[in-house]
Amino acid sequence: MPPDVAAAAHGIHCNFVREIIMQHCPSTVSEKPIVLTGDRPTGPLHLGHYVGSLRTRLRLQEDYRQFVLIADLQALTDNAENPSKVTGNVLAVAMDYLAVGIDPTKTTICIQSQIPELAELSMYLLNLVTVARLERNPTVKEEIHQRGFERTIPAGFLIYPVSQAADITAFKARYVPVGEDQLPMIEQTNELVRSFNRSYGDVLVEAEAILSRVGRLPGIDGKTKMSKSLGNTIPLSAEPDEIHRAVERMYTDPGHVRVSDPGKVEGNVVFTYLEAFEEDTLLVDELKTHYRRGGLGDRALKQMLEARLQEMLAPIRAYRHQLAQNPGQIIDIVREGTEVARQIAAGTLAEVRRALGLNYFCR
Ligand code: ATP
Ligand code: MG
Repeated sequence: MPPDVAAAAHGIHCNFVREIIMQHCPSTVSEKPIVLTGDRPTGPLHLGHYVGSLRTRLRLQEDYRQFVLIADLQALTDNAENPSKVTGNVLAVAMDYLAVGIDPTKTTICIQSQIPELAELSMYLLNLVTVARLERNPTVKEEIHQRGFERTIPAGFLIYPVSQAADITAFKARYVPVGEDQLPMIEQTNELVRSFNRSYGDVLVEAEAILSRVGRLPGIDGKTKMSKSLGNTIPLSAEPDEIHRAVERMYTDPGHVRVSDPGKVEGNVVFTYLEAFEEDTLLVDELKTHYRRGGLGDRALKQMLEARLQEMLAPIRAYRHQLAQNPGQIIDIVREGTEVARQIAAGTLAEVRRALGLNYFCR
């Protein structure tokens, strides 16, 4: 296609995407309650995201006005020396969203760094929290330990809960569907909202976490959380042999040596995953009883889990391959989503500046 024809076609396509997003997501705050969540673009999304947050988002996008934020600024707080790890994963995360069924006509996908209003709101909120309070946040404490930051915490990392509070409040989100690790963040957000509103007038809105049935999926190594930073994940885009190898590596009961031995279900990762992904709960209960009694081998159990995961991930992977054929379309969706999201955040920031008396030259 000659370049001018290609450019014209691209323009038409952009307008089309924009029109669809605007139609479904008008820039004025809609009647529907607002939902906001986000993910750090530090790697491909995994099964933990799926059970902890994505599954809920698929349900919520039907009835709520949903924003999903690709939190690249937050990801930089512990990857400052390697920004391409963050920037290079933004599109992959967007592709994962679409592959699992996030529908851009119902959910606005946007990039945190491209909405400078979020950084501005963070600055105002930072004045309302003490360093001691930030240091007490249990999730941040755990992550500081995990990353070996004890004596060298980047200031940006310590304050990331405030930036997260800015994200939530800039959109006036009422609900935030997250994994269990994020509960202290919501608590801190609401403290900031109360403090802001007390000092400057009612502008910001308190948020409520929506926890899924599986609040925290452990890693395949049995560590308490599947997490990109811990390298113990099964990505949603995993190929069949990667899924096979991951299930093979899964931690079971070390005391269950022979098939005939009675086995432990508690702390056994294979059972935790079966509980999370096998819809036939009666079958899972039977397997537990059998395992406890003895006579059910780890190999047979793992085969069952693998079959379930392969079945679940195959359509997601196939759709993702299809989406990857046309990255331009994904870029357009994210660009337009970000524009729409920025308008909403700008509206809140205008109110925030007015409340603080920072609207010097506005009419
Ligand atoms: P990183 O290691 O870079 O922090 P992550 O794997 O922890 O990445 P995040 O982007 O921090 O993923 O998390 C995004 C969302 O997914 C949050 O709401 C978080 O609670 C949820 N989530 C992530 N991992 C899990 C998990 N293992 N179980 C349940 N929810 C999870
Ligand atoms: Mg995390």
